[in-house]
Amino acid sequence: MMDVRIEGNFEKYLGLPPMVGRAKKRSFANLKSRLESRLESRIEGWKEKLLSTGGKEILLKSVAQAIPTFAMSVFRIPSTLCNELEQIMARFWWQSSTKSKGIHWSKWHEVCLPKNDGGLGFKSLNSFNLALLGKQVWRLSQNQNSLSFLVLRSRYFPSGNFLEARLGFSPSYIWQSIWQAKNVISKGLMWRVGNERRINIWHDKWIPRRWEFKIFTQPKFLPKEAIVNLIINPTSKSWDNETLHQAFDIADIKEILCIPLGDINAPDTRIWAFNPSGSYSVRSGYHFIQQLRSHTSLHIPGEQTTYRTVSSSTSTPHGSWKNIWNLQVPSKVRLFTWRLLKNFIPSFSNLCNRRMIDCIPHCLICGKEPENSAHIFGNCPIAATVWSLAHIAPPTLSLGNMEEFHWVSLSWIETGRKLV
Ligand SMILES: [Zn+2]
Repeated sequence: MMDVRIEGNFEKYLGLPPMVGRAKKRSFANLKSRLESRLESRIEGWKEKLLSTGGKEILLKSVAQAIPTFAMSVFRIPSTLCNELEQIMARFWWQSSTKSKGIHWSKWHEVCLPKNDGGLGFKSLNSFNLALLGKQVWRLSQNQNSLSFLVLRSRYFPSGNFLEARLGFSPSYIWQSIWQAKNVISKGLMWRVGNERRINIWHDKWIPRRWEFKIFTQPKFLPKEAIVNLIINPTSKSWDNETLHQAFDIADIKEILCIPLGDINAPDTRIWAFNPSGSYSVRSGYHFIQQLRSHTSLHIPGEQTTYRTVSSSTSTPHGSWKNIWNLQVPSKVRLFTWRLLKNFIPSFSNLCNRRMIDCIPHCLICGKEPENSAHIFGNCPIAATVWSLAHIAPPTLSLGNMEEFHWVSLSWIETGRKLV
């Protein structure tokens, strides 16, 4: 009557797909095209500046990784799409254009390690997605009166126990997303003891011990249904030492005595164990998920591969990565040093190792030795001249022992720092 046109097919609502059907990847395809066009336009616009790797690092962290944030805080983006988005970033990082192929010197998830563990601190999108969804998991676990809790409860967990909820029959995509994140984030939740007397000593998570948060001792002295309040002296409001020694092994007693008994008249509360405040934050959630992957080969439903984020800090002397990032030099110099320590330099030797050439040609400058990083930066007469002009004794290097190579490189950095 009023001639109001009804829009039958919303493509997007507030920038998000209102319906996510079976073709999930197609629903989020615009994320990929936006990322590609944003990177391309920045490359075109800032060509001069972006020649520096430091600029690329900032662009990736501040612009590219922020594009999917909104969608990721509501939906679990298909892991195949996350991988494709990361491939676009990886191509951009290793090459100057998103369309050309460059040498990818390492797997992207290794570049996503924290800077002090030998990576560059880029975000793993799969983990970041779960960390963002974790915010919703946290709210649902804390506020059982919210509208979203009541709506989800009526459909998926009528008992009211959100953390134990199952996926259920024909679940909505939003619930699938929250449910997947719940299964991961709940691993970092534990109890803070209050006065509700509902925390079971043996089954519940209340010991601040990674990654189990549970008692190790088998129940003998105290019954299986014993609650934590039984081992608290109500008068002194402190742990009951005598009962502790009768009921638990020494390792458990040590952990229990470290738990501060604040206000034991407050309700029992569920806290996030990976933030000193006890509250969940996306940042702490992200670090938790990355650590969980590296410790437990975590398998997350919906993710195709289970990888261990192996920390490379074991192969370098302690603190060495930190030394690079603390250097007061332009960021491109720090990034170049990182590449050198990682042996990501396109020397003939490295190209041969990657089977891009058949044999290792001798140095094009002096022709005396096969060209590798140690020769270019240490043994070559040209390098020696540079060292002597800088009044630094040229290091003797052997690439056979990477640890020694790291150590020597670090001594260069130290010398460089003195010169700066
Ligand atoms: Zn040479």
